[in-house]
Amino acid sequence: MLLLMAAAVAVNMLVGHVVQYVLQWPLFLDAIGTILVGALLGPLAGAATGALTNLLWARFLDDPSIAPYALTAAFIGWAAGYAVQRGAFRRINRLLLAGLLTGVGGAFISAPITAYIFGGITQGGADYLTNTITATGANLLQAATLQGFISDPVDKVISFAVAWLLWRFLRPHFTPWTTGSEQIFESWTGYTVAVIAGLAALLFSFVFLPAFGRSAFSIFYVAVLLSAWRGGVGPALFTTAVGAVANLLLLISPYYAAVIGAEDWLRTLIFVLVSCAVAVIVDQLGRRTHELHAALLAERQGQARQRAIADGVVEALALISPDQRVLAVNRRFGELFGAPPERVVGQHLDDTRTLYEQVFEDADALYEASVITSSDAQQSYTRQIVQKWPQYRELLHYSAPVHSEDEFLGRLFVFRDVTQEREVDRLKDEFVSMVSHELRTPLTSIKGFTEMVLDGDAGEINEEVADYLGTVHSNADRLVALVNDLLDLSRIESGRVQIKLEAVDLAEIVALVVRTMQPKLDEKQQQLAVHIEPGVAVTGDGDKLIQVLTNYVSNAHKYSPVGSAIEVTVRRQDDFAHVAVTDNGHGIAPEDQAMLFTRFYRVDNSMTREVGGTGLGLSIVKQLIELQGGEVGVRSALGEGSTFWFTVPVQVIGDW
Ligand code: ADP
Repeated sequence: MLLLMAAAVAVNMLVGHVVQYVLQWPLFLDAIGTILVGALLGPLAGAATGALTNLLWARFLDDPSIAPYALTAAFIGWAAGYAVQRGAFRRINRLLLAGLLTGVGGAFISAPITAYIFGGITQGGADYLTNTITATGANLLQAATLQGFISDPVDKVISFAVAWLLWRFLRPHFTPWTTGSEQIFESWTGYTVAVIAGLAALLFSFVFLPAFGRSAFSIFYVAVLLSAWRGGVGPALFTTAVGAVANLLLLISPYYAAVIGAEDWLRTLIFVLVSCAVAVIVDQLGRRTHELHAALLAERQGQARQRAIADGVVEALALISPDQRVLAVNRRFGELFGAPPERVVGQHLDDTRTLYEQVFEDADALYEASVITSSDAQQSYTRQIVQKWPQYRELLHYSAPVHSEDEFLGRLFVFRDVTQEREVDRLKDEFVSMVSHELRTPLTSIKGFTEMVLDGDAGEINEEVADYLGTVHSNADRLVALVNDLLDLSRIESGRVQIKLEAVDLAEIVALVVRTMQPKLDEKQQQLAVHIEPGVAVTGDGDKLIQVLTNYVSNAHKYSPVGSAIEVTVRRQDDFAHVAVTDNGHGIAPEDQAMLFTRFYRVDNSMTREVGGTGLGLSIVKQLIELQGGEVGVRSALGEGSTFWFTVPVQVIGDW
């Protein structure tokens, strides 16, 4: 590597010398080696080669005015390395552009140097600065003229082209070096900057020391700042050390041969202290910025993940703030309602009223509900809604409050498309209802004819036949019960059941049910007691209440042992009549209690298996009571018995 750099320096000087002094062309062409090293070994090696060429040349020709141009040469080496790393040698137009830009950059750097060396500036103080700037301007102007143009940019374009030719031959031998040095530079970016900044500051103070005096060293503050900014504490301390040493050594070098005074020591000390402080502060600042960036990135990633989840669900979601603004919606929302999220987000609910009207059937009621509940931090609600635009859909709309740790953020509106589920439900209900109807007629005839044969209408039958026919009859009974339950359920669920609300006397209903059930109770020698609080009149559907109470009493009878006691109580509780059927049968485990009122649920025990049933009775009870505005429930303990209860609203006076 050093060999290559030395060879490059030699090439620079040889070609430069021949072109300028022997051929006397208006060109320099003294940077071919520098550009080649930059291209092969990277920017830093290029910069070093350039600077070295000029310093050696100055020594060789004994012309100190060449030395300051080391700065320009270093820039050219660096620029060549950088340009090649960015692919300047891959296409001819890039190569030309890189050469041109490097030339222009070099001209800019050379201008003040030329002004300083050849400007004929003699005055001191502010005049000196003004003169330097004026001369720099004049130089730049000259660089823009034809002659200047040839001397810098064209010169560099030619040098780049020649270096490119050489690079093509040499590259294979240097590829491992190049990648190696690139890696080193990549991991040492901070120190690379420190070295470049330190070298530049060194050159500057070296060149400008005679003019600016000892204050020329102030340039090292800039170098320290740069190093700290790009590399942190380490590179900044490195530049500080270079600066401190340069402060003292440059003065006593044979070039200036000055004496180090107390003032210089003090200045160096201050420089070191201030630089250390700058290094630490800038480093901390950098770290904070870095942490902030990392936190920001993590936050963005988190948001992206949440958005992905929100966008991935099949439901449309909208978050509404307590002051009724749409805070966010997911992608599905846009798809479902034909409203792009960016149009909806940020709007006040007021502004979405037209959207409500366009999209939903019964939009006013839904809109009012949305507005009223938007500030409700507690309740959740679910409702069925119908969408009419952009297409017909049945939706399940769910709204729930959203809280952060201690703050109410707003409400989440969820819209689920249940069109298909509803359609399937409807088909199923129709099927069940149709099958039940079709089964009822043959079953009735089986029952009827069996009864006739049992009654002897078809002649004498022996005991065995009577026994068999008894079994047929009781199974037909069970089938009729099942079909009736199924029909009831499908009627209730499809909304075809009519509830006739009227004044009902609960005492009468209880008496009727007891009368009907008495024979069965007697079969098991079960005692039934009735306690009715006088004067409890309710508003309900008498037939349905009979059906409900019959189911409770029949279950108590079925699931309690022979000889047990059953109790029916009716009492008033607030605005409701509370009707309970208590038995001291087997009782029901808590996990089963939760499921009792759902369809086809039967507790899995020997008693239930023995008794037989459909598991539909209680779910029918629940729906019939809810249709009348009441509630159902159960209290039970295993081995102690159960109490099944329901409520019905009491009658409002004046209805009578
Ligand atoms: P079915 O009686 O036709 O099975 P129900 O819906 O009326 O259907 O009852 C569901 C289940 O609840 C029954 O299978 C039974 O296991 C349980 N159950 C109902 N009432 C009682 C009761 N009084 N005591 C114990 N278990 C009961």
